[in-house]
Amino acid sequence: MDVKEIQLFNTRTRTKELFRSQDPNFVRIYCCGPTVYHYAHIGNLRTYVSEDVMLRALHMAGYKFEHVMNITDVGHLVDDGDDGEDKMEKGSRREGKTAWQIAEEYTQAFFKDTERLNIIRPTVIPKATDHVQEMIALVQRLEEKGITYRTSDGIYYDTKKFPAYADFAKLDIENLEAGKRVEIGEKRNPTDFALWKFSPEEEQRQMEWDSPWGKGFPGWHIECSAMSEKYLGATLDIHWGGKDHIPVHHTNEIAQSEAANGCRFCNYWLHGAFLTEDRGKMSKSHGEFLTLQVLINKGYDPLDYRFFLLQAHYRTELKFSYEVLDSAKQGRLGLEQRFKEWQDLNASFESDAEYERLQSEFEAAILDDLNTAKGLSTLFEVVKSATLPDAAKKSLVLNFDEILGLKLAESIEQAQAGEDIPDDIAAIVLARDGARKNKNWAESDRLRDALQAADYLVADTSEGTTIKRSGKLRRDPVDE
Ligand code: AMP
Ligand code: ZN
Repeated sequence: MDVKEIQLFNTRTRTKELFRSQDPNFVRIYCCGPTVYHYAHIGNLRTYVSEDVMLRALHMAGYKFEHVMNITDVGHLVDDGDDGEDKMEKGSRREGKTAWQIAEEYTQAFFKDTERLNIIRPTVIPKATDHVQEMIALVQRLEEKGITYRTSDGIYYDTKKFPAYADFAKLDIENLEAGKRVEIGEKRNPTDFALWKFSPEEEQRQMEWDSPWGKGFPGWHIECSAMSEKYLGATLDIHWGGKDHIPVHHTNEIAQSEAANGCRFCNYWLHGAFLTEDRGKMSKSHGEFLTLQVLINKGYDPLDYRFFLLQAHYRTELKFSYEVLDSAKQGRLGLEQRFKEWQDLNASFESDAEYERLQSEFEAAILDDLNTAKGLSTLFEVVKSATLPDAAKKSLVLNFDEILGLKLAESIEQAQAGEDIPDDIAAIVLARDGARKNKNWAESDRLRDALQAADYLVADTSEGTTIKRSGKLRRDPVDE
């Protein structure tokens, strides 16, 4: 089957390019997954919503794909460099649970969030802790090539031995060299990084493994090189991540994989822009950070947040505020309302030139580097059209929603099933309203958790507790 042409902005070449996969119709995609020591903040989730639009666009263009997203459950240190505590051990101390429990709980929380945002589940979700042997083997291959060296705290990559090191991020190595004496300790070059860290003698680590170099744990960067190679081969078609990863994490992935395999690691690198707030980039190190659950508790539907994100291009920085989220919510509810008015429409219609024009305008926007902002303006042109029959509008909007993922079809199903709330759930809602009236917050929280465990989204409104079924994920396109 022929695929449609799709243009994507490639960080490697800094240009928008016509995408070509290595195998016809099939795309190998890798995305750096979450570090599961805490909840994802809504900035992290922006990166995954942006990637989701690309996956849906590839599907629309006629591709099948393998989409690997790893779970970083060891080795990511708090300073993102080679020093400091492992984020997992930090999470464990914070909550008085084992690092393994922390990893399990926050992995589940992450996928609950992505499901609520209607993000298609990856086809393979490898955990770093399940792939330590592959990582050790990869470090050994680099060692055989003479690229590594040993310090008192680990095995390091000598970036001077990879001449193209600075190219991807256009790093200014000379200026980095100038600051060398203050920063680098036993490292040979400021850009060198740990492949394997030894467990510190004074500290009992919860996550550690035997290796040819002694007990320790893998560096964060080697995880992605090892797992992407295992599931997708030496050369990826597309690699996704937030743009903060360009100068260090992705640069290091390239250095490792290309030195080990002698071929290009990835053909198309895509990077999402940041979600910001008043104090700058949204980040967990600020202490308090915004999670999807916080938005839900304030009465927003996760899809309000998705709609808010779609209004901007994925390469444009986007500033979060409740005012803009409110207007996104109004926009999405307005759309849902219009869509519900068409629910009984199964009338046939002639697909005329106007219908075709709007359909191809939307597709062209999406196939042009995923321009969802432009796609949404076509969608509103459809909704407002004075000439298109409602059945044609419904059909177009449904087509567009395959990419936008706003679950408009499900909103009709939910409206029709609206009265079908089971008695036991209705009883919990009633009990929760009672607890809130009596200011029994512990009980009201407990009952909210019970509703969420039964897969309902819970919001507190002036009328009391309102609930909505959180909905199930669509099937992955690979299986279709
Ligand atoms: P982490 O869980 O910290 O490894 O990050 C997961 C993903 O979120 C990575 O791809 C980051 O680049 C991305 N990310 C981190 N902060 C932001 C932000 N403020 N806006 C968008 N993406 C972000
Ligand atoms: Zn990675």
